[in-house]
Amino acid sequence: MILTAPNTLLIAAFRRLEARLRPPRSVVSRSKARDNAGHVVLLGAGPGSADLITLRGLAALQAADVIYHDRLADPALLSHARPGALCIPVGKAPGHHSVPQDQINARLIASARLGHAVVRLKCGDPGIFGRGAEEAEALTRAGVGWSIIPGVTAACAAAAAAQSFLTERGQTERVVFATGHRRAGEVTDWRAAAAPGTTLACYMGVSTAAGLQAGLLEAGWPAACLVEVVSKAQTPDQRILRGRLVGLAQLCQSEPRLNPAILLIRWPATLDQSKATPIRAAAEVA
Ligand code: SAH
Repeated sequence: MILTAPNTLLIAAFRRLEARLRPPRSVVSRSKARDNAGHVVLLGAGPGSADLITLRGLAALQAADVIYHDRLADPALLSHARPGALCIPVGKAPGHHSVPQDQINARLIASARLGHAVVRLKCGDPGIFGRGAEEAEALTRAGVGWSIIPGVTAACAAAAAAQSFLTERGQTERVVFATGHRRAGEVTDWRAAAAPGTTLACYMGVSTAAGLQAGLLEAGWPAACLVEVVSKAQTPDQRILRGRLVGLAQLCQSEPRLNPAILLIRWPATLDQSKATPIRAAAEVA
């Protein structure tokens, strides 16, 4: 059963439904529910496309009694849930109230304590900008066991979509995963990451691209660094915009509705710094 609107009414309805679920029968349930406190799998769905989940992840999904899923996980994945499994959306959706993190934590704990095989399906990899650590900490505090099944993170999926490489021997030898999402008053000091041979993969950076561009330039990143903005990677709506760091903000404004997107900013060891013109426009839009 797939529920579609994340709000507190739904959670209440779900609570009643879950209480009626028959006892867990899956392998995951049997092996993990031994310690009556239950078990939650933090499962990486991969980004964009349902076929980017791992085989181990698919098996956990098929075995789940209850699946709490993010908005950015491909909904097609839920077709792998067993008949009768509950699929509960808990991600942020424009125009809807999102379920607060402490409520998500509480639901995970309550479901696990019922002895159900619980999957927390997260977009990409659960360990990267997904608040997985907060959920794990709450589960640990409640005495509920948890494990992680990794997923393809959006930066890898974006690079693959753009037919580019996060590292390249002799050119880029380190990758920095960063978030463009800042709480009020927070500023990132980009100096620590400012070195030739770096690829910066910035999540949630479209709306803060102007600040990111300014911060990177101020920290010493050359204006000519190569930029790829990969929007909706691995989906039918995928778009790839290419330019230089000096034109990053402009690039992010050049097209509507780019989110979700990854900004890949490369400072190769042998960067040609004379190439610091802003956007190399339409011809490079894939
Ligand atoms: N845990 C996820 C990241 C969650 S944060 C992971 O490992 O990928 C959400 C951000 O991920 C989005 O704002 C966007 O920056 C990125 N993202 C998720 N799906 C994406 C996709 N299909 N294409 C491009 N970026 C994506």
